[in-house]
Amino acid sequence: MDSKEFREAAVSSIDEIISYYDNIGERNVVSTVEPGYLRKLLPSEAPADGEPWSDIQQDIEGKILPGITHWQHPGFHAFFPCATSYPSILGELYSAALSGACFNWICSPAVTELETIVLDWLAKILGLPTCYLSMGPTRGGGVIQGSASEAVLTAMVAARDKYLRETTPAGLEGDALEDAIAHKRSRMVALATSMTHSSTKKAAIILGVRFITIPVSAEDGYALTGPVLAAALENCRARGLEPFFLTATLGTTDTCAVDDFDGISSSLADFVPAGSPGEVWVHIDAAYAGAALVCPEVQEATEISLIDRFHSFDMNMHKWLLTNFDASCLFVRDREWFTRALTINQAVYSNTASDGGLVTDYREWQIPLGRRFRSLKIWFVMRSYGVNGLQAYIRRTTQLGEDFASWLRARPGLFEILTGPSFALTVFRMVGKDTGECNARTKKLCDRVNATGKMWVTSTLLDGRFAIRMMTGVRTTEKEHVEAAFQTLAENAEDVLKTT
Ligand code: PLP
Repeated sequence: MDSKEFREAAVSSIDEIISYYDNIGERNVVSTVEPGYLRKLLPSEAPADGEPWSDIQQDIEGKILPGITHWQHPGFHAFFPCATSYPSILGELYSAALSGACFNWICSPAVTELETIVLDWLAKILGLPTCYLSMGPTRGGGVIQGSASEAVLTAMVAARDKYLRETTPAGLEGDALEDAIAHKRSRMVALATSMTHSSTKKAAIILGVRFITIPVSAEDGYALTGPVLAAALENCRARGLEPFFLTATLGTTDTCAVDDFDGISSSLADFVPAGSPGEVWVHIDAAYAGAALVCPEVQEATEISLIDRFHSFDMNMHKWLLTNFDASCLFVRDREWFTRALTINQAVYSNTASDGGLVTDYREWQIPLGRRFRSLKIWFVMRSYGVNGLQAYIRRTTQLGEDFASWLRARPGLFEILTGPSFALTVFRMVGKDTGECNARTKKLCDRVNATGKMWVTSTLLDGRFAIRMMTGVRTTEKEHVEAAFQTLAENAEDVLKTT
């Protein structure tokens, strides 16, 4: 493809993308293809000779879009949003054009420097304490990761390294040192709650450290409290285990609960005082709901200023902040915790700027070596929307969740809210004489509304109670779409009531 052909192909592709968005509401939200559909449509070998762009592009509508579930559809109320926006798409376009493996500053200084700057902007917009800023008092800073799962793994690697450094007896060498580390590792444990995203457990599995789940209850709103954590810590101690890592969540996946940061920090301080050797590293997983911190009222309500007592914080701009996958923004209070754990020098990557300690090399803050120019799309989104635009979007979609919940409340003969609305998420079920009947009805309702193709909701189980999660955060979702979704739910619930 030469420049002229690229221009024509690009214009035609952009036109198609615009038309896709303009008409997205007319499609079925969820793909209805059968497993293996694509193999039947594509040749079994790659083409021997190049094909014209027009043939390739034709297959987007004909072969790919049937197999797409439309996450940007206004009727997408499942899981959490997976955002994008036109400025973000433009960022991806430039990033692809400037493709490089920008692991060291010298590999493209703009890639590193823009990332540091936009993550400082983000930390300020989210109201994070200054210790998470690159120019802050503790030499913290942010780094873009591929996903929240990658972020928690990175944090856990650093936490393990920090804990071992602080608690392994001094003066040991050789085999004695190796044995002491191996013994310690066998007793180290990562903690999370029964509502923490599974990525923390996966990180522990990858690192080969023990993992303990702390049960949280409906009475506590499915959030971790100080006393529950204190009991879990004491239990570890009684078993000879050494807690070194805890994930606390701002906006859990099932219900968007927020763990009690103040209670957590008090219990931890009683266990091992903050800043002492062997303190428990606390990682705040705000993958979804962290986006809402752009609003000062949310910063206050969630007491985000308290996280200066913790160690790392992560939020995904690619969930609810108008930026497409991948843009998981991980902040750490002291960048040395990352670089000490993750720096391995290899002659081939040596250069004057790095060797002189003059620059940030983000390869030392992450698991992979190579990295993309991901900050560009964040920069474009922030500049295009401005802080006011981001706040307006979060407030609008949060209000849609409040509206939806108020309509549920107005139909007590049909629905019961189990949690929320919290961060544009309401978890509810159909009423019934007992859990069995509620579950059967709610499951039927969920299947029926999803079969309409006009909306998609997903479910969860809360203490054995089957519940529908209704999320209203997608950029294209307007009040009329949420009203239509509620109407579909109410009409189908009435039918379900008649038949069960
Ligand atoms: N943490 C929370 C609270 C989540 O809800 C999710 C996914 O929804 C994740 C982590 C995992 O996100 P990622 O896909 O970026 O790894």
